[in-house]
Amino acid sequence: MNLTKRILIAMLLAVVLGSITQVLLADETLNEILRYILDDILANGVFFVLGKIFVASLKVLVVPLVFVSLVCGVCHLKDQSSLGKLSLKTISLYILTTGMAISLALFLATLFEPGAGVSLETEANYKAPAETSLKQVLIDIFPTNPIAAMAEGKMLQVIVFALLIGLAIGRAGEVGDRIGAAFNDLNEVLMKLVTLLMSLAPYGVFALLFSLFAKQGLGTIGDLAIYMMTVVGALAVHAFVVYPLLLKTFTGLSPVTFMHKMRNTQLFAFSTASSNATLPITLRTVEQRLGVENRVASFAVPLGATINMDGTAIMQGVATVFIAQAFGLDLAMTDYLLVIVTAMLASIGTAGVPGVGLVTLAMVLQQVGLPVEGIALIIGVDRILDMIRTAVNVTGDAMVSVTVANSDNGIDKDVFNDPQAGVAK
Ligand code: ASP
Repeated sequence: MNLTKRILIAMLLAVVLGSITQVLLADETLNEILRYILDDILANGVFFVLGKIFVASLKVLVVPLVFVSLVCGVCHLKDQSSLGKLSLKTISLYILTTGMAISLALFLATLFEPGAGVSLETEANYKAPAETSLKQVLIDIFPTNPIAAMAEGKMLQVIVFALLIGLAIGRAGEVGDRIGAAFNDLNEVLMKLVTLLMSLAPYGVFALLFSLFAKQGLGTIGDLAIYMMTVVGALAVHAFVVYPLLLKTFTGLSPVTFMHKMRNTQLFAFSTASSNATLPITLRTVEQRLGVENRVASFAVPLGATINMDGTAIMQGVATVFIAQAFGLDLAMTDYLLVIVTAMLASIGTAGVPGVGLVTLAMVLQQVGLPVEGIALIIGVDRILDMIRTAVNVTGDAMVSVTVANSDNGIDKDVFNDPQAGVAK
């Protein structure tokens, strides 16, 4: 059985068994021994630990992989001056797709009115995080201490440092050739590690999802059903209509092949709810399954995992309209424009870890003068939406990487079209 099927089965089993466990645990009359086994030994014991270890083993690869892979990509650039053009294209496409995502979300949310008729008797209390100024955000892109940047996982700083080292290696003549070759070898070793890790995914995914669903179940949906459906609907349209159309228009490549090859990566993103933890898998897929050259993928994928969050922007768009409706407040046309701009910035500022999209939503709400406490209304169902939107986030990163690579002669179409290329067993 192939890996995708095994992960899917593990996922399904985990959701079903986890939800049953949650229902059992909620029953006050449950036998003490059974409760102890289900709760302390399984959900909060074995599977909790295994799930954490699985995510840790993905995360541990992120910084070394981004650094090594990007140094490799840049130092082997034949024409270093093309780097500027490449970055500009990548960033513009990331912004464009996010803009489309948020507009789509606002359109669907005004159409379906998820917040109409929602009663506001909630224990709404949510405190907005402190804001950072734009000046500080810009300054923070540049590292003062590369080791600290790596230790703290500050991805943009790691990217800047790797770009500089790569550029210098590319200009260092014979010495540069030697060290560039060493980076190449290291990159291959790290990629091997990613492949090894992928084969453990069914177990990791089971552990992760079992303990998640055993603890919180599917949440109380109630009034939030239309909100959830609107978010999921917008995510689906963006992933299955907008991305394929963009890919076809910009590259002429087959969206079906693209989606098929992205399945494992999407499952990883869904299970971990983190674009960052999924980054090693996204990078491997984009290079080895979709045929994008390392010089493009090593830059575009980590940058995307850090700044490109279309799924998150969609949630924020729908949530803003939902909260406005729930509080009975009207949004003017200028408010919608403001939401588009701030949600784009918020998506750039959202770190690729679980739940952060909800934190940056505060910024969007404040911008249009909506009560930040509204976030308390949707917190209950956010985890499941987080999982789905993260899968969309990583799909966007890969789609843009393929598009940029195609425009720069940086894609091997034989690899893209070969169903077996880079398959992890
Ligand atoms: N979990 C999302 C991601 O990692 C970010 C978010 O929307 O909270 O891509």
